[in-house]
Amino acid sequence: MPRKTAAPKQAAGPKRTAVAAEKTTAAKATVKEARKAAKPESHLAMVRRARRINRELAEVYPYAHPELDFRNPFELLVATVLSAQTTDLRVNQTTPALFAAYPTPEDMAAAVPEEMEELIRPTGFFRAKTKSLLGLSAAIRDDFGGEVPGRLEDLVSLPGVGRKTANVVLGNAFGVPGITVDTHFGRLVRRWKWTDEEDPVKVEAVVADIFPKSEWTMLSHRVVFHGRRICHARKPACGACPIAPLCPSYGEGETDPEKARKLLKYEMGGYPGQRLSPPPDYPGKPAPALGAA
Ligand code: SF4
Repeated sequence: MPRKTAAPKQAAGPKRTAVAAEKTTAAKATVKEARKAAKPESHLAMVRRARRINRELAEVYPYAHPELDFRNPFELLVATVLSAQTTDLRVNQTTPALFAAYPTPEDMAAAVPEEMEELIRPTGFFRAKTKSLLGLSAAIRDDFGGEVPGRLEDLVSLPGVGRKTANVVLGNAFGVPGITVDTHFGRLVRRWKWTDEEDPVKVEAVVADIFPKSEWTMLSHRVVFHGRRICHARKPACGACPIAPLCPSYGEGETDPEKARKLLKYEMGGYPGQRLSPPPDYPGKPAPALGAA
């Protein structure tokens, strides 16, 4: 029986060699990318990414500002207390009548509780808020000579004033840098993996370590602007988000650009903002007054 001879191996031509080399390079690149993706981000890389997000947000919202209407530290303090569990727009629609009735801490401390409750009823939780406003006005009158104090430790000693409210007042009425950790700020920094802390005080400490003090107040405005307009709690508009390439949570919301655009709010969606009298550089329309169509 004739012995079977093995078929001669085909010699690898130059074309085959090139294809094989290409495949190997592609495979190596894929492995490298996969390793990079699997590797946890270093603290330094996270800090660089966080600062880049801040720079990008500064370009997207160069007009970021406090969205509560106020003319002095007392009005900002009162408006911030009222803003709990409601929108800044609702507060802005409510405060003109409130400040007309009680323009100073002395006037407010002497208010009839039921009358104040009626004035602030649209902001919700009006009984508790009335109690806070009466208490903080009396404390400003009795302990601080009728002037809102400009120090964190004094502000948080006022009834109903926590760190968030104190930092809003410090940053925007006194020019003292402050990080405002509200519901938007906490949600976004967790989505961006700057921290996984839930406690606002711990979140504030982490963010304070990432950014220089000079950035704190504007960073807070930019992050809150982004949370209100694009990166919403339930339906983030990922497909229309300018910082998507820097966001580890891209895909948590709608990624289709057309559908995502429909989720944009305020001036980003072509609607009015929350201020009744917005700053001159604000690109949207002013919000309607209470009762206006
Ligand atoms: S990509 Fe999505 S989750 Fe990330 S910041 Fe933008 S909207 Fe928020």
